Amino acid sequence: MRSRFSAFASGNTSYLLATSSVDLAKSLTQQELIETCDTFSFVHLDVLNHDQDTVEFIAHLLLGDQHHQIHERSHFIKQNGNWKYDTGELSDTPIIKLNRNDLCPCQSGKKFKKCHSV
Ligand SMILES: [Zn+2]
Repeated sequence: MRSRFSAFASGNTSYLLATSSVDLAKSLTQQELIETCDTFSFVHLDVLNHDQDTVEFIAHLLLGDQHHQIHERSHFIKQNGNWKYDTGELSDTPIIKLNRNDLCPCQSGKKFKKCHSV
């Protein structure tokens, strides 16, 4: 999961496709993934729970001064000996408008205006 988060953060869409299950990869296009990576800044990942084939996490994304959160329980399946991301259940999360003096969601401890603010 952390490696997929890093891939979203760095725009490594080939890795994202390679770590998706066969069925999921069929429904994804590299172009869509590139747009997602380009639109949002993936600034922080909180892993809440995990067991063998499930990871519950909150990914923190920035779009301008909007703080988006993806709260998901991801299910992984083993294909050809490797764990692949298959499906996920999303929980509703609010979109938070950040003020310049708020703490940055990347958890740097700095104010937003001195960190990820554009
Ligand atoms: Zn920051």
